[in-house]
Amino acid sequence: MPEHPGLHDKMQYLRGVGPSVSEKLERLGITTIGDLLYHFPRDYEDRRHITYLRDAKDGQHVTCRVAVSGHSTFQHRGRRHLRIKVADPSGHAYLYCFNRNYLRDTLKVGSTFYLTGTVSCRKGGLLFSQFDYAFGGEDEELRILPIYPLTVGLSQKKLRSLTEHVLRVVGDQVQDEIPEIIRRGYRLKSRRELIRTIHYPDDIDSLRRAREGVSYEEFFKYQLAIGLLKDKKVKIQKTRMPIEGKMKNRFLTSLPFELTGAQKRVLEECEQDMSRPSPMNRLIQGDVGSGKTVVSLVCALDTIERRGQVALMAPTEVLARQHFDRVKRYLSDLAVRTEFLSGAVRGELRDEVLESLLRGDVQVIVGTHALFSNTVLFHDLALVIIDEQQKFGVLQRGSLREKGDHPDCMVMSATPIPRTLSMTLYGDLDVSVIDELPAGRGVIKTEIVKQAEIEKVYRKVREEVEKGRQAYFIYPLIEESLKSDLKNAMNAYDKLKSEEYPDLSVGLIHGRMNDEEKEGVMRAFRGGEYQILVSTTVIEVGIDVSNATVMVIEQAERFGLSSIHQLRGRIGRGEHDSYCFLVPDRSTGRESFNRLMILRDTQDGFKIAEWDLKLRGPGELIGRKQSGVPSFIIDSLDVNTRLIARAQKDSRRYLEGEMGSEEERRRFLDGFIQSRSFRDAVLYFGG
Ligand code: ADP
Ligand code: MG
Repeated sequence: MPEHPGLHDKMQYLRGVGPSVSEKLERLGITTIGDLLYHFPRDYEDRRHITYLRDAKDGQHVTCRVAVSGHSTFQHRGRRHLRIKVADPSGHAYLYCFNRNYLRDTLKVGSTFYLTGTVSCRKGGLLFSQFDYAFGGEDEELRILPIYPLTVGLSQKKLRSLTEHVLRVVGDQVQDEIPEIIRRGYRLKSRRELIRTIHYPDDIDSLRRAREGVSYEEFFKYQLAIGLLKDKKVKIQKTRMPIEGKMKNRFLTSLPFELTGAQKRVLEECEQDMSRPSPMNRLIQGDVGSGKTVVSLVCALDTIERRGQVALMAPTEVLARQHFDRVKRYLSDLAVRTEFLSGAVRGELRDEVLESLLRGDVQVIVGTHALFSNTVLFHDLALVIIDEQQKFGVLQRGSLREKGDHPDCMVMSATPIPRTLSMTLYGDLDVSVIDELPAGRGVIKTEIVKQAEIEKVYRKVREEVEKGRQAYFIYPLIEESLKSDLKNAMNAYDKLKSEEYPDLSVGLIHGRMNDEEKEGVMRAFRGGEYQILVSTTVIEVGIDVSNATVMVIEQAERFGLSSIHQLRGRIGRGEHDSYCFLVPDRSTGRESFNRLMILRDTQDGFKIAEWDLKLRGPGELIGRKQSGVPSFIIDSLDVNTRLIARAQKDSRRYLEGEMGSEEERRRFLDGFIQSRSFRDAVLYFGG
């Protein structure tokens, strides 16, 4: 069967892509052939230079052209593994093939190939334990190769062969997406050419230009979409009843504390929004514990008083449940009916909730993205509150909004981000910042501890637990090294449980558990059944246990500074002093070590975010997958604020008709509104 695939076809349409590969690709967010074209490399490997074995230095990453001169075996952990001797005209080396005995048949004695890997110089000579190989024409592999983000079971080799194939068979279908007049103005290459170059650049300079070109295009389209949406929104007019504030006042007097100055200011900004004819669209930023939820509840009460319904959405089951418990507690005296909805709420209970929601008997519904489901209908949804906690990205922010008649919308984010970034990410939202923590919080002391001194940490944890407090041990878990990360965390859990704290109760929560399991563990920890909780992911700890006062973060060098800052916000929530120990891996270099010092020296989330932006780029700060913002935008945010500014200006001028003919613009915009970029923006920002 001849292949005639199109950009919108599913990956499975391609020869060589079966259900198993396509399932893995989906984990990377790649469903269609077009998606694969936009799965850009995270880095490159420059194989243009061949190194002679003789010249390879210890620890150096090299490509050599070698021939196989013999096979033998070696023992490791009770198993036999293949060892291959290779040589080039300058010398020889050994390849240690851990669990790769099948290479015996691929790298046969006498065959010649390109060997790429990190070399170790030992007494016995040169060796490679992790390496890649490539056959091919004399100079075929001597070029710059892409390094893609991977997932378990999908190799770099496989992805490379897929992108090459796809570029060859559908590359020509890629259309230009920005107005011709702008492309000409900047002498930008065609979109097709830019994309090809990003995957397989001829040299570093054209790579840089291609990345800039695509970034510019993405920014332009993004700003254009926001511009179009904003124009539309300004025209919406709602009739508003005045806010009397009776419920608000009863609520505020029932609180055991007074709002901070920052909370009062932000609340006033929100109430002003909610009194205007056009809907509120506001982002509330503030560190964990700064009191965003309390502010959002006041807005909820203002809304309920005006007979509107409120939906509060959180990114995970655990967080949504926690919100639900707290909202119910807060509003218990105010005769407000609050219900909970998630995928886990089923059967009669679900029907009952849905019906009362539609009748208007339920005033506040708290839940997960299940609230987006088609079956969820409101009597009069008037306020949508979205708690994004630490990650951006509620792709369907708009679709929840569609369930009411232009409801007010409030997004809460605990990730403080620099202003340029929030303007781009949240485009159409007004921003309020709660930049003051309530008084009377305990202090969080942050310390960086070497692996060799871990005993000290163990002792401190024990001390706190003996005082009746609780502790977290956090381990990283990322998709790319899922298996080994998970194993790591499990091992650590076993060790803590059986060796270090056999007399205490230690719980485990990790990203591979289902929601019910997680909820069970969290309930036990909250209830004090566990004194120590081992956790793998950030979000699972997005949780309010004010009795927890110690947090140990292992392999801290692998987290972004902002992530760590979020994490440690989970301790120090009560009046007790808290301790955060950052324990980098043994192999951590000076630079990463110093980076962590920033956390020891400041508690200011914005400052930390600025550092993250500078040191690790915006992808880390924002959380690439969750954001729903094209990853190119994210990548280029730091590289190029100049580029953002220019795209912003150009898009505005273009919309205002200062570029090109009226007819051309009409035609372009008609097409643009049908495009994926525009639809994405509508989904993200709401139409
Ligand atoms: P955020 O949503 O920003 O993480 P919350 O609204 O959940 O913060 O508040 C965190 C904790 O601080 C809650 O236990 C809340 O009751 C308490 N809190 C909120 N505002 C104040 C305040 N002004 N003074 C004292 N405690 C407060
Ligand atoms: Mg909160």
